[in-house]
Amino acid sequence: MSADKHGTFLASVNSYYDSAAQHTGLNQGLLDQIKSCNSVYQVNFPVKINGKVKVIEAYRAQHSHHRNPTKGGIRYSMHVNQDEVVALATLMSYKCAIVDVPFGGAKGGVKINPWEYSENELEKITRRYTTELVRRKFIGPAIDVPAPDYGTGSREMAWIYDTYRAFHPEDINAAGCVTGKPVNQNGVRGRTEATGRGCYYGIRQALNTPKLMKKLGMTVGTAGKRIVVQGLGNVGSHTAMISQDEGDMVIVGVSEVEGAIYKKDGIDIHDLLKFRKEHGSILNYPGAESFGKDQRRIVMEFDCDVLIPAALENQITEKNAEKIQAKIIGEAANGPVTAGAAKILAQRGVMVIPDIYLNAGGVTVSYFEWLKNLSHMRFGRLEKRFDEANNRRIIDQIEKLTGKSVDERDRNMIVRGADEVDLVRSGLEETMISSFDQLYEVYERKRKVEDLRSAAFVTAISKIANDYISLGIWP
Ligand code: NAD
Repeated sequence: MSADKHGTFLASVNSYYDSAAQHTGLNQGLLDQIKSCNSVYQVNFPVKINGKVKVIEAYRAQHSHHRNPTKGGIRYSMHVNQDEVVALATLMSYKCAIVDVPFGGAKGGVKINPWEYSENELEKITRRYTTELVRRKFIGPAIDVPAPDYGTGSREMAWIYDTYRAFHPEDINAAGCVTGKPVNQNGVRGRTEATGRGCYYGIRQALNTPKLMKKLGMTVGTAGKRIVVQGLGNVGSHTAMISQDEGDMVIVGVSEVEGAIYKKDGIDIHDLLKFRKEHGSILNYPGAESFGKDQRRIVMEFDCDVLIPAALENQITEKNAEKIQAKIIGEAANGPVTAGAAKILAQRGVMVIPDIYLNAGGVTVSYFEWLKNLSHMRFGRLEKRFDEANNRRIIDQIEKLTGKSVDERDRNMIVRGADEVDLVRSGLEETMISSFDQLYEVYERKRKVEDLRSAAFVTAISKIANDYISLGIWP
């Protein structure tokens, strides 16, 4: 969901909240507390760039402290403003509740165009922003734990970790002050791809739900389903690669800042990413129709089964909602569908898989990374060899009892103990499947819950309310 002509991004988030809240039966005071943003820190700091001082506007919003620490990404974009940061922090609280990640919601934003700065300049800005957060106690493994978002990645997270550590050399858990770090700097394997992989698992689960497919007039399963992706950044590129490689889905359209391409019989995503790296653009990709910058949104209206907006908010609005041909929209980005558009899509029978569920893979694996940092040990270190020895004994016994030998390749596959990345993917898959089933049950059970997003809001509100009551925070 997002802003449209009726109001701001935050107003849009809150309007979903208000309509879902009616279905929870909770008292108004508690509902007001869950909805409100607890704290926002706005700061303007100077950074010397090319000999000139530039004043940079930045934010960190902590929406809810019903669980600690708070958690949410840091966005570098010229669109950053308080309304957006608070809206995104609010979504984080609901997102964490939906996937049972025990954090409150937060979000940070720095109002810059990251592509305009050199690496050194970005490092300066990131370190200075972190220093401001440290000063105000807006960061720490038990306080507030940032992560990557639009315009930031593992590089920025490493700078944040290093800056925090310099201020807190005595903090043995300092690595848990930020997630999405490079693996060799206390990150976890599988974090970079996590949001995209989670999107794939979520879309796959929807496509594997027979009742839902019947409603949408689609066949069950991922194989052969045609997808259009907007944005080939971290989230979009991983969603596309995994959907193609593991789900046998066919990418027919891609939209990026420079323009868009469409190819009815499919685009190999790995080849396209290589092409973009070499040519600096997706335009003129061999065999595909190209559309210039001004028309880059048009492929979202082309024939496909699943449309995956994975760039920014406000991409499907009242202006283009009527023209969308996809039967499912998977909100990989935060807020790509406006509240006005959502109404039109619902009337037209298009199913929106909401952001607060679908892109929760990032925060889920961030939670795993934080746990790894607090335990000071890689996942799988204790049990890997034990499991392998055990599995080997089982195979040996089977061979002995049957008198037949297991093929060498199968033996190796069965014996292999889980590595960190296997465990992370397994935890993420379990989270996305069970959370979808929970939402879908609420959607089916509550007659007045009009779409999956409302079901997601009802689920989140109920879980947070339960925390308030059971943790004794609510008077
Ligand atoms: P990113 O910076 O890695 O990628 C964004 C991509 O979108 C870039 O390639 C950019 O060129 C492209 N883009 C920008 N404007 C566009 C436009 N108008 N049309 C087409 N393409 C455009 O960012 P990301 O981390 O992939 O985040 C994308 C979205 O996913 C954001 O809404 C973010 O809040 C959300 N999200 C990210 C994560 C995460 O782990 N990174 C987690 C949850 C949600």
